[in-house]
Amino acid sequence: MARYSGPVCRLCRREGNKLFLKGERCYMAKCTVERRAGAPGDKKRAVRSKFTEYGIQLREKQKVRRIYGVLERQFRNYFEDAERMKGVAGENLLFLLERRLDNVIFRMGFAASRREARQLVRHGHFAVNGSKVDIPSYIVKPGDTIEVREGSRDIEEIKASVESAVQRQIPAWLELNAEEMKGKVVRNPVREDIDVPIQEQLIVEFYSR
Ligand code: SF4
Repeated sequence: MARYSGPVCRLCRREGNKLFLKGERCYMAKCTVERRAGAPGDKKRAVRSKFTEYGIQLREKQKVRRIYGVLERQFRNYFEDAERMKGVAGENLLFLLERRLDNVIFRMGFAASRREARQLVRHGHFAVNGSKVDIPSYIVKPGDTIEVREGSRDIEEIKASVESAVQRQIPAWLELNAEEMKGKVVRNPVREDIDVPIQEQLIVEFYSR
């Protein structure tokens, strides 16, 4: 399945939730979800139509997939890995998604959105433990250091993101040294570190049908 390349605010309206796909704009009053409630094409009714149980589970799965920008096949693979891990499958799934390099770049503040982070990683602007990594799905682990590579430190979008990230809160499992454009994975994420409203149990139920 191809990656969605249309207007991203439409995805938020579809899910009836802010998915934070557009960077700074998502934190402003200009956000489309703040201004217009309801699914796209549903102009007459500002409230979303009622879903079946299956529909609710499907929407939650789609919402999380879109937040992290992961394709269906890959998302299912994450779920299968999460089920094999010790602990609660739904939480494990979120922890794997959080530990993706593109998410970590966004969370550390090197990019304004996960989408932008993915592109910057693909273009080879980051190093993990001193070596270039250009795979957005690379899974980080505690102790890893992540830095903007020497030749990429003057890129305007990275500099602007780091400046605004200093005001934004960095999750407790990550550390940022904004001056050195470097960060560290302090520990694995725990459920409380994930601040987006997600009901992961619905995703477990979706795949367990
Ligand atoms: Fe979603 Fe951000 Fe667009 Fe708001 S501005 S609708 S949160 S992508």
